[in-house]
Amino acid sequence: MAQCTEAVYLHDASLRTLTTEVVSCQSISSLSEIEKCLAKSLSPEDSAIVMRQTILYPRGGGQPSDTGTLALEDQEPTFTVLLVRKAQDGRILHFGKPVTTDTIFVEGQRVIQNVDGDRRDYHSRLHTGGHIVGLAMELLFPDMKKVKANHAPGEACMEYEGLLYNEQKPLIQAKVDELVKQDLPILISWVEDGSDLEGRGKNREGPIRVASIGGLDQNPCGGTHVDRTSLAGPITIRKVSRQKGISRVSYEVPEKK
Ligand SMILES: [Zn+2]
Repeated sequence: MAQCTEAVYLHDASLRTLTTEVVSCQSISSLSEIEKCLAKSLSPEDSAIVMRQTILYPRGGGQPSDTGTLALEDQEPTFTVLLVRKAQDGRILHFGKPVTTDTIFVEGQRVIQNVDGDRRDYHSRLHTGGHIVGLAMELLFPDMKKVKANHAPGEACMEYEGLLYNEQKPLIQAKVDELVKQDLPILISWVEDGSDLEGRGKNREGPIRVASIGGLDQNPCGGTHVDRTSLAGPITIRKVSRQKGISRVSYEVPEKK
C-alpha cells in the first residue's frame, strides 16, 4: 500500500526549506487517470514526485497550492514545483518541470525542498483573513450559516446562507478592523473527535486539526496561517453581494508586507 506523505506544513508552517527523501518520480503520462486529472494544466511529459515529507502546501480548503523548487544536496535547484496536489491515498504529488532536461530523481535520493516564501506568506495572510472575516460574521450575524470559503488571490470571499446588503459592509469592516487591531493569536490544536465542534467536525476522521482566533472560535482547518491577526491585515472588505439566497463577503489583504 502506498505510504502517506508526512504533511510537515501542518505542524510547522514557518519552514521554508527541508531535506527529505524521494519515494517516487514518474512522468504525468504514467499516472492513473484520476491522478493525471490533478495536473491537467501541465504536459504529460512533466513529472510527478512523491517524497517522504513535504513542507509544500497542496491545494485545499480554498487555499491555492504552494510553488517551489527541489535540489540535490549541495547543488542548485534542478526541479521547479508548479503544482502540489493530495492524492486520495494520502500521498502528496509535486508536479513540475526539471530545470535541465536530464534531471531524474530516483527512489531513496536525498532532496532539499524550498517553498516560494512570498507566495506562501500571501496565501497564509489571505487564508487567515478568511478566518477573521468568518469570526467577524459569527459575532455580528450568529444565525447566518457559512456555506463556502475561497482564499485565492483576487477571489477571496466567504459565503453565507441568507441576505446581506451593502449597508452592512461598514459594520463588517469595523468588526474585522477591531479583530486585527486586537492582535489575537491564531491557535492550532488537535482534537481526537469532532463532537465538540458544533457539527463542524462531522464526518472527519480524527485527529482533527483545529484553528482558533484567540479561543473565540473553533474551525477544523488544514491550511497555513500567520501567527497573529495583526499579521494578516489590514483586511479590506471589497464587496457584499447576493445571488440566489447566498451572500458573499469579498475581501483582500496586502500582497506584500
Ligand atoms: Zn485555517
